[in-house]
Amino acid sequence: MCEPVTHPNAPRQPCTGKCSGICHTSKSHSHTQPVLVSPEATSANSAPPAENGPASDAEEKGEPARRRQLPSLDSVTTFGLNGRHKILHPAHADGPFYRARSLVGLLLIAVFLALPWIPIGGAPAIFLDVAAQRFHLFGLTFVTQDLWLAFFLISGVGFGLFAITALLGRVWCGWACPLTVFLDTVRRVERWLEGDAPTRKRLDSEPWTFGKTLRRGLKHVAMFGLAAILAHGFLAYFVSLPGLSRMMHESPGAHWSSFLLVFGLTIVLWFNFAWFREQFCIVLCPYGRLQSVLTDEHSLVIGYDSARGEPRGALKTGNPGDCVDCIKCVQVCPTGIDIRQGLQLECIGCAACVDACDSVMTKLKRAKGLIRYDSLAGLRGAPKRFWRPRIALYLALMLAGTSAASLGISTLRSAGVSLTRMTGAPYFVQNGELRNQFLLRVLNKRADSAEFHIAIEGSVPSGMVLQGNLTEEIPRWGEALTPIVVTVPLENWKTGTPLTLTVRDSAGALIATKPLTILAPETL
Ligand code: SF4
Ligand code: SF4
Repeated sequence: MCEPVTHPNAPRQPCTGKCSGICHTSKSHSHTQPVLVSPEATSANSAPPAENGPASDAEEKGEPARRRQLPSLDSVTTFGLNGRHKILHPAHADGPFYRARSLVGLLLIAVFLALPWIPIGGAPAIFLDVAAQRFHLFGLTFVTQDLWLAFFLISGVGFGLFAITALLGRVWCGWACPLTVFLDTVRRVERWLEGDAPTRKRLDSEPWTFGKTLRRGLKHVAMFGLAAILAHGFLAYFVSLPGLSRMMHESPGAHWSSFLLVFGLTIVLWFNFAWFREQFCIVLCPYGRLQSVLTDEHSLVIGYDSARGEPRGALKTGNPGDCVDCIKCVQVCPTGIDIRQGLQLECIGCAACVDACDSVMTKLKRAKGLIRYDSLAGLRGAPKRFWRPRIALYLALMLAGTSAASLGISTLRSAGVSLTRMTGAPYFVQNGELRNQFLLRVLNKRADSAEFHIAIEGSVPSGMVLQGNLTEEIPRWGEALTPIVVTVPLENWKTGTPLTLTVRDSAGALIATKPLTILAPETL
């Protein structure tokens, strides 16, 4: 038998040996055609009967139903031979991983919907007030001038995710990706309204009766409702919950942009729930592609123990391997792959095949873990390594990013200050005085109103005067735009004199400084 594939990026070369159609690397015959398993091979097993599997091209072409088709490494199960998307009806696999994932998914949805509700420091835990250019994150308020911090924060979080992927493989995809979490919920609704996988598949091929229309209609209403709730939850991050509630009580015409955003997002989510589904993971998700270069043979993946499982075969054939070829692992796979062919790009790490195979092994009184979480090295019995250079590199980059972001956050001021020169002439000379005009913007980032005092410091020449509202009372998260006029007698001005505009709070603490450049005629 030929070697099992060692990495999803490993070339799929034709093999030359006789391997019962399960090889996927070099040296054996080519698997350009799907592997066909006779029903006898599965019906003879004492494992539970197959609930349903991906719709096969053979069935599409009307070939005898008794010839069961398995996915091949050279095709994508969610595409038919004609290139059209095939909707899969994965069977439900109950088990410890399904229950744990359901719990994690419910918690994540609850957190997603709750964050705009939870007040921290007088603002929602996350409130991205784009209109006012203020971003509230867990009690901290950022303004657009603070966005440089996002580079370090995103870098730190990104490299942290790299480290997690290198260690735990596609754990993000299987357990925490919003799409996976939402689709699990959609499948629950689908099972409840339309029944198990064989029933749903039958329903697909039935003519449109009243009963089918009602079931399908209810399903789409439920999906659309879920999509609308999630889209409104998303909008709440940008307008806050009171803002969302106000908008919902007003006509859409009063908030066109928000209405269109929610409507568009609802349609996109509904389209994904109803039709596109795991296609996103297989053909669109950039992180899914990136993960292939982040993992190695020591990363945790979901894999099939071929040494233990092969040669596979029905129980009545007295197979020496533990795999009874019941194909339950294929039938429950949401991306329609056969994990026994080795790790594949389509695997999202949902562990449904682990639950399915463990339940078969339990019924057969054999040890669980024929399909399990393990590294590729572990699956072939080689020593496993936790620490690898890439882990150290990703962790070091994560620490660098998060440390820089933390340092930046610790130095954040309680006000955002910007000083710009007023449009028009850069300076004015009148009655022996030089005049420069500026526009000062002060944004109070505190959750309370505060008083700000503006002054000039440095080598202030005699007779220099600062005019404008030099004391500003600004409400919480409010903003003041103040014209500042600096006047100095011409005979006292010396070009290049260093000056600084300062903003202090009522206690005299320095909030911000801005260099004040005074422009004057060249002849001075
Ligand atoms: S790996 Fe397990 S679930 Fe899959 S066919 Fe073999 S026995 Fe059945
Ligand atoms: S192979 Fe297993 S873990 Fe991977 S997507 Fe299919 S069911 Fe989920």
